[in-house]
Amino acid sequence: MSGADSCGTSVMIETEKFSVSEIFGENVFNDSVMQARLPKKTYKRLREVIEGGHELDLVTADVVAHEMKEWAIEQGATHFTHWFQPLTGVTAEKHDSFITAPMENGKVLMSFSGKELIKGEPDASSFPSGGLRATFEARGYTAWDCTSPAFVRHDAAGATLCIPTAFCSYTGEALDQKTPLLRSMEAINDQALRLLRLFGNTTSKRVTPSVGAEQEYFIVDREKYLKRKDLVFTGRTLFGAMPPKGQEMDDHYYGVIRERIGSYMKDVNKELWKLGVSAKTQHNEAAPAQHELAPIYAECNVAADHNQLIMETLKKVAGRHGLHCLLHEKPFAGVNGSGKHDNWSLTTDDGINLLDPGSTPHENIQFLLVLTCLLKAVDKHADLLRASAADVGNDHRLGANEAPPAILSVYLGEQLEDVIAQLVSTGSATHSIKGEMLETGVKTLPDFMKDATDRNRTSPFAFTGNKFEFRMVGSQASIAPPNVVLNTIAAEVFAEACDILEQAENFDDAVHDLIKKYAIEHQRIIFNGNGYSEEWVVEAEKRGLPNFKTMVDAIPAYATDKAVALFEKFGVFNRAELESRIEIEYATYAKTINIEARAMIDIASKQIIPAVIRYTTDLANSWNAVKATGIADVSVQSELLAETSGYLADVKRALKKLTEVTEQAASMSEGKEQAVYYKEEVTVAMEQLRVPVDKLEMIVDKDLWPMPSYGDLIFEV
Ligand code: ADP
Ligand code: MG
Repeated sequence: MSGADSCGTSVMIETEKFSVSEIFGENVFNDSVMQARLPKKTYKRLREVIEGGHELDLVTADVVAHEMKEWAIEQGATHFTHWFQPLTGVTAEKHDSFITAPMENGKVLMSFSGKELIKGEPDASSFPSGGLRATFEARGYTAWDCTSPAFVRHDAAGATLCIPTAFCSYTGEALDQKTPLLRSMEAINDQALRLLRLFGNTTSKRVTPSVGAEQEYFIVDREKYLKRKDLVFTGRTLFGAMPPKGQEMDDHYYGVIRERIGSYMKDVNKELWKLGVSAKTQHNEAAPAQHELAPIYAECNVAADHNQLIMETLKKVAGRHGLHCLLHEKPFAGVNGSGKHDNWSLTTDDGINLLDPGSTPHENIQFLLVLTCLLKAVDKHADLLRASAADVGNDHRLGANEAPPAILSVYLGEQLEDVIAQLVSTGSATHSIKGEMLETGVKTLPDFMKDATDRNRTSPFAFTGNKFEFRMVGSQASIAPPNVVLNTIAAEVFAEACDILEQAENFDDAVHDLIKKYAIEHQRIIFNGNGYSEEWVVEAEKRGLPNFKTMVDAIPAYATDKAVALFEKFGVFNRAELESRIEIEYATYAKTINIEARAMIDIASKQIIPAVIRYTTDLANSWNAVKATGIADVSVQSELLAETSGYLADVKRALKKLTEVTEQAASMSEGKEQAVYYKEEVTVAMEQLRVPVDKLEMIVDKDLWPMPSYGDLIFEV
């Protein structure tokens, strides 16, 4: 069947039916597959390892590896790979086939050992290590993370068994995103259990952070994308005048999903479901061509792996539909950018959510302690949370009109803010504001209880009923760093509270005093107002809250004495690891801006200036021709020629300047000074080149302009 979407693009509509419950997880070596295929003893042993009981022994690993291989081959797999997340921002893999040396009869054996399952040795010399590992010590190890299930991925390369792994140096330092995340999960588990025991809980065995990451993205037509070298090289447009229509009509947000996009989303969901990713929600976002996908929350490290799979799948499936998925935080200047809302809560193995206030939060002492501990954690380490969301693309988004500001604050909502206010003023909370009936005023519609708290879309860290939603994270970033920070700062304050409460003679009095103390001392971090307003920036400064506007400003927070003490206390990072990460971040910033600047220079020199010259030639020819008639007026041609030539001269001047500062920046050695130079000189020169180019786009004949416009890209998908 074929249909036409709202902009007339013809799409094939597949009416194929499939059952979600049948395909869900079909490509995953998940718990039920393991239970069905592994010998009972092996399965039991592996479960104990997964639940944190003890280390994996080689005998168990051999049995698991064999079954995993047999299962993967049944799925059509020919290769396996350790799938890991180095500090490049993308996942890495190196494929090995299951084939072992050919036998004498010319046949091959397919084998996969426990050793190959649990440990890999990629030649890791070209992954970023921030000085932790010299190139001559190229050895790096990948180690199986058995808490995140292996899966078979099908693509043009065939079927590959992917084994989620951590990646470390020869001396054990983390070179990836997963290792510190797993370490931080252990820290929060230990401290949250201590806290639960204080409240008489003797049954919960584990506490894990539950995370659901909502993913925003843009979809553009692939043919048009390929004509934009800025998108190809940098993931964002470096030039582009605003189209006549933007998002002012709010007609895209939650709008009907176009057929072409719907067909794409269907395929994305199908792929993700097969991989055991519980893609749940999809809708159009605020900007034209912008969309969102949210899975159901999962254990923190699984959620981080799944988010990588979501990003990979969004990109891969787009290609099959003649589309291209842009994950950059700000693909189009002046149009809403994309983020990734990191929903975070703490859940016990027996299903208790530590962030659930119940209907009478003022009576829920355990919840109030957890809440005030988190207020303290966020207030004390606002700089770290900010740094964890810092990435080059996010600099265009944080603080702009659609995104949370770069200032950290916590939104609690009316009900909890009132409870905290009672605590602060009288020392105890005696009542909770109740939700009321919401009357719709229409007989055929049900009236319902509304939440005691409205939503606030402008807060970077909002309490949303039974979880916190950290909204600063960038759309293309890994969710590991923000969760590493969240888990560790929570662990620190829980530990501090437990140290005090475990010694207390009268627990009830002590916990009451502690809640009150934390509420009073950290009340400044609570802000329920409009986070986008200018007044808030002023108010936040009065309160002494940090405001790091760019990535370069935010990075140093990772190696303050405060940060080193925090991370070393819980074994999440040592000082060398933190310093290496900072080095990598500065280098990443510099390299990214360098590519953007060079792409601008390239496009302006080879595409834009020649196009404008062609246009001025047309104008000059027209001027001559009209003039030659001796009767008509040539003032229009004269004016346009003067205006165009003026902007062209501006372009040339700005191009010269950008070239100079970019060369200067590239000649500096890597580090903070270079990153600062890129920020202060190069990005400014880039902006200055963009201005006259965007002006010219509005003048020059569209047929001569060398690339699709914003309007073509975001309205004609
Ligand atoms: P929103 O209205 O902000 O889109 P949703 O209810 O759709 O909120 O949830 C957004 C994300 O939060 C989803 O990924 C969802 O699974 C996740 N989520 C829901 N409850 C929790 C929780 N207790 N802990 C962590 N994440 C959660
Ligand atoms: Mg949301």
